[in-house]
Amino acid sequence: SPQQEQLVEVILHDVTERAEREFQTRFEADHDPLTGLLNRRAGEKRLQKALRECIKNNKHLVLMMIDLDKFKPINDTYGHEAGDKVLIETAHRFKTLFHEKNDMCIRLGGDEFIIARQVNTYNKAETLEQATTLLNELQQQVSISNTKTCAVGASIGIAIAPTDGTELHELMHNGDKTLYHVKETGRGKVAFYDDIKN
Ligand code: GH3
Ligand code: MG
Repeated sequence: SPQQEQLVEVILHDVTERAEREFQTRFEADHDPLTGLLNRRAGEKRLQKALRECIKNNKHLVLMMIDLDKFKPINDTYGHEAGDKVLIETAHRFKTLFHEKNDMCIRLGGDEFIIARQVNTYNKAETLEQATTLLNELQQQVSISNTKTCAVGASIGIAIAPTDGTELHELMHNGDKTLYHVKETGRGKVAFYDDIKN
């Protein structure tokens, strides 16, 4: 009957609305509101899962630790809002280059990020090329108003699982060490844990 049809419609509408609300709530819990990237908590959870899968299936997880170079002066010179624009644009550039099903872009906090990619076979030259492309992309001008642009650099430290760590905290620690090696030796470069560990 028409009444029954109407009832079904109302129920479906309610169910859809609730599903949308739940999706929205879940999304907000897992993502950084400024950049839309995965936040630290959700990112680490997904990294754990990806790491377990990689080890189980004899695959590799490429972990890139990224920190912007001299980002604080952007805030100091152009204002916090301009700094926010740089972070938003940075996230956009990540998503443009790393949008495969097995890629993850995470904002750890401040100007620190992780990009992780699951690969069937690890190729160092290819990974270096991808990281270098990212670095070049990040160094491009960012528009901060109708008339102003600014630019910021980045440093990247790379650790590969399972070689550089089978536990997430170990892998992240080694990626971090590599990143700080780059910071200490002049910034604006890509380094592999494999090359700095000794
Ligand atoms: P380094 O080259 O050694 O990385 O130095 P840095 O200037 O990039 O400074 P650092 O990485 O130590 O600190 C990041 C700064 O980012 C600190 C804080 O003022 C700024 N910051 C953190 N979160 C936000 C944010 O959400 N928006 C803006 N605009 N700035 C932020
Ligand atoms: Mg920084």
